[in-house]
Amino acid sequence: MAPEASSGSYLIARALRDLGVTVIFGIVGIPVVDIAEQAINLGIRFIGFRNEQAAGYAATAYGYLTGKPGVCLVVGGPGVLHAMAGVGNAHANAFPLLLLAGSSETHLVHKGAFQELDAVALLAPHTKLAVRPPSLDAIPQSIETAYRSSWYGRPGTAFVDLPADIIQGTAAADDAHDIPHARLLPAPPPSAGDSARLFAVAELLRSAKAPLVVIGKGAAYAQAEVEIRELIERTSLPFLPSPMGKGVVPDSHPLNAASARSTALQHADVVLVLGARLNWILHFGEAPKWNPAARFIQVDIAVEEVGRNRGDPETSIVGDLRIVVPQLQQQLSNWRYNATDSAFVKALTAARRKNEAKAAQAAATPSQPLSYAHAFATIKHTLHKLSPPADGAVVYVSEGANTMDISRSAFPVEHPRLRLDAGTSATMGVGLGYAIAAHEAYNSPAAAAGLRTAPPSRKKIVAIEGDSAFGFSAMEIETMARYRMDVLVFVVNNGGVYHGDSDSAEEWVRLQEATLNPHGAAGKDGADPSSRQPQPHLRSTSLGYEVRYEKLAQACGGLGFFVRTAEELAAATEAGFKARVPVVVNVVVESGRGGKLEFGWQAAGAKKGKGK
Ligand code: ADP
Repeated sequence: MAPEASSGSYLIARALRDLGVTVIFGIVGIPVVDIAEQAINLGIRFIGFRNEQAAGYAATAYGYLTGKPGVCLVVGGPGVLHAMAGVGNAHANAFPLLLLAGSSETHLVHKGAFQELDAVALLAPHTKLAVRPPSLDAIPQSIETAYRSSWYGRPGTAFVDLPADIIQGTAAADDAHDIPHARLLPAPPPSAGDSARLFAVAELLRSAKAPLVVIGKGAAYAQAEVEIRELIERTSLPFLPSPMGKGVVPDSHPLNAASARSTALQHADVVLVLGARLNWILHFGEAPKWNPAARFIQVDIAVEEVGRNRGDPETSIVGDLRIVVPQLQQQLSNWRYNATDSAFVKALTAARRKNEAKAAQAAATPSQPLSYAHAFATIKHTLHKLSPPADGAVVYVSEGANTMDISRSAFPVEHPRLRLDAGTSATMGVGLGYAIAAHEAYNSPAAAAGLRTAPPSRKKIVAIEGDSAFGFSAMEIETMARYRMDVLVFVVNNGGVYHGDSDSAEEWVRLQEATLNPHGAAGKDGADPSSRQPQPHLRSTSLGYEVRYEKLAQACGGLGFFVRTAEELAAATEAGFKARVPVVVNVVVESGRGGKLEFGWQAAGAKKGKGK
């Protein structure tokens, strides 16, 4: 046996291969580079990032999209600290993630070793399992156990700490033969709902005057779209998708209450919650957003979830959606909600018409600088011309405060798992990592083979990023370029966090001009402008104004467009959609508006005597 075939790094890579892992997201350094190289030699793809944070986010999204743990490999110490962001994100969103990290040699611990950190102690409270294999022959078992823990039950993170002496150690050739392999694990065994409970819940649903089905991203993760679509078709129950639950049932379905959300929440009397938590995204199920008399039926794989906030353990079902939904359907037998004569459905339809007309008007109103609504409508119409939503060939990634909020309803999706956003933790900075994961999940044949319902042959990944959110991981554009990922990124650029600050933007422009053009109007007093060290009065929400983010794509071998008008945006969207390299379209939109938030200093008119 060749020495490398008995090394710790080989055994680690072999365990991953045996578990069916086809891609690892991460960043290498000493000593984990050996693991990455062994993995590549065994046919596993390694995607090297520019920051562990983005690699961690990518692995979590990959887990969500494929329904199997995403794997992330990082160095110890600072690498683990950066990857903590991905750990927290996976935990909050209940996505499966296996994190592997190097660590200092066992005998050097507490001596101030290279990148020393007690990562097991650090991560134990934030993971489902944190382990360190005690010896080379324990490697396959430790990795298999961690992989299974992250996946089975409610998904989350598992962590394997790999000391340098384990990675670089070598088993005696004879012993190496005897080290057992990790097993290729089947998908988690599904659990069914209790039959007496199903009977009672079906009764409750039948008695409802204003029933509502809430569809969360747990339903998308469970790949339960076939069962849930059938439930909606056969019962005519109105439904409301959560932001990432969109597409489990097509957005175009007539029973979709998304554009009448407030009305749905205020009037629903029995709410069937399929794979969603009654957390902030659903206003905790509480009044005043919700009808105070509403009864909630939670269906969740995690027993500890039922009864949370307004949830009622008496009317909830623990089990896998793919089993429980057909069970419930069977209990409801041929019952159908009378949607035609329902006052609730009439109220939903009226609210929907009103809200959609208002949104359509905003979208159609020409604007200069571009409004968010007009910019998104332009992108949408161009994309729909090139790829109709029914094809499900576009995946949307969206983040940034206004950008995410406003674009959520602007881009309908007809298929599940086509929309990723900041999620349960409202994590800004996930966008480019998520886009890379989506490209990998949908466009690499190995990953797509794991999906229950086959995706169309190829998908275009479209990331719609606020300029602030983009900045968290902008360098990952280079990662996309290196791996030839033709992601289309829009940077919706209002020069700030939230709505930015148009006053400081104007001042910024004046000062830039003065600096670049000392003999122009701003430099008339004859003083050397650089000696004045001009400082704009920046607010905490200010970012650089009209920063040329598109040049980052150009610098890495991609395409970049800087646009201000709807015509320029439409042309750039079309070119970006067709390109086979990463593209950044830098869209200058209105600054100082576009958000619901008003800060204290604006309300008080503290600046220049005016608010916004
Ligand atoms: P959203 O953000 O869309 O509201 P959440 O992430 O809050 O959704 O909730 C998803 C829920 O789905 C979690 O409570 C998780 O335990 C649950 N879940 C995940 N997989 C399954 C499954 N196969 N069957 C039932 N529930 C599931």
